Amino acid sequence: MSYVTQVLEQLKQTYRNEPEFLQAAEEILPSLEPVLAAHPEYQKAALLERFVEPERVVSFAVPWMDDKGEYHVNRGWRVQFNSAIGPYKGGLRFHPSVNLSILKFLGLEQILKNSLTSLPIGGGKGGSDFDPKGKSDGEIMRFCQSFMTCLYRSIGADVDVPAGDIGVGGREIGYLYGQYKRLTGTVTPGVITGKGISYGGSLGRTEATGYGLLFFVDEMMRDNGKSLDGMRAVISGSGNVAIYAAEKAQELGVKVVAMSDSNGYIVDEDGVDLSVVKEIKLARRARIKEYLQSVPSARYFEGCKGIWTVPCDLALPCATQNELDLSSAFALIAHGVVAIGEGANMPCTLDAQKAFVEHGVLFAPAKAANAGGVATSALEMAQNSARLSWSKEQVFGQLQSIMRSIYRNALAAARRYGLGDNLIDGANIAGFERVAEAMYALGL
Ligand code: NDP
Repeated sequence: MSYVTQVLEQLKQTYRNEPEFLQAAEEILPSLEPVLAAHPEYQKAALLERFVEPERVVSFAVPWMDDKGEYHVNRGWRVQFNSAIGPYKGGLRFHPSVNLSILKFLGLEQILKNSLTSLPIGGGKGGSDFDPKGKSDGEIMRFCQSFMTCLYRSIGADVDVPAGDIGVGGREIGYLYGQYKRLTGTVTPGVITGKGISYGGSLGRTEATGYGLLFFVDEMMRDNGKSLDGMRAVISGSGNVAIYAAEKAQELGVKVVAMSDSNGYIVDEDGVDLSVVKEIKLARRARIKEYLQSVPSARYFEGCKGIWTVPCDLALPCATQNELDLSSAFALIAHGVVAIGEGANMPCTLDAQKAFVEHGVLFAPAKAANAGGVATSALEMAQNSARLSWSKEQVFGQLQSIMRSIYRNALAAARRYGLGDNLIDGANIAGFERVAEAMYALGL
């Protein structure tokens, strides 16, 4: 049994009640076989066993009061996974589905994603099973303040730097940072990213994940002699990643014909009007169904999965994990899909990924393709350290060059180990090589 298989089998025994974490490990570990074979010293240093185990997990109760004066308690976590190449870095997710398994899967992915950016950031992730839907502004603020009261001792600009994720956007980051500032009596903007521009945020961070996804996909298409111009795209979700992916796609000449939220999806054959989607989802935090009130010629369908039956050349899953399964993959392949770009983390199931690769569909894996958000977070940290702010052009220029180099590095890693143009394995290997080298160099 190979070293990788031994570690994976052990992991399956120990964490059989953490399916999402095991799914991520099963995607990542086998692709590292050639690296570990080339470095027998890593096995002696138990490097892989250390890589799959978080360095520290902080778990806490988050008590808060609703507008009626009633008390509630949610669970909160911060998974500080790996700090070999820099301070822990990764978002906070507020969603009722959040548990340790999901945060560990996201944290493990984050280690490699952050390494791929070539910037000095380690991997972490955190969040709570709090459901922000239907909560008032005051309730959100009190929850964020309580969450930070529990977390602030464990983070720091050189220790662990959280950011947003599902359910945590600019509003929540403001409340979280405000409480950190109040509790510590310091002005340390570098402790959290995704901040508003008036108090230390970076221009372009809001758009970065979605734009970065399109920069990556554009590079992949060009490299394969294809162009995005004139393509039809289906984009799931209508949150931060989906909206800015759609914006950049449209700028590049793509017609976005469908978008969704957790209730259902809209199809607009004339091309989705993003100003309407932004008004509904970002300004009013309402349901995407309301798109039809502004664009009566569009259609609405209940349920999320059906979106993958809408014919398209380009599919960008930008909502959540495991939202695109094997049957959806076959529906897309049957309609002649050309490329998939994963905007969300682990949106495609393992068998769906495999089907795309086997059918020659160009596949941009999440940890490479959606790294633009965290890369720009690292640029925000750099600006905070230097007490400077860069122009949007500077930020987007750097973002574009980072996304291109992630593409090239992932491809080069795959080719170096004789894996053809497989970006899934290539991204895992390129991300892992840097972390492993640092872990080994630092000793036990
Ligand atoms: P948001 O909370 O802003 O948006 C999530 C969107 O997905 C919402 O529109 C939500 O609908 C929708 N959604 C949730 N579940 C489903 C589902 N099952 N089917 C269809 N739609 C669904 O989150 P983000 O855009 O920030 O994050 C989306 C994904 O991207 C996550 O996987 C996240 O980890 C990943 N990501 C985010 C980064 C960032 O910078 N924000 C960086 C890298 C990755 P509703 O409005 O109904 O809740």
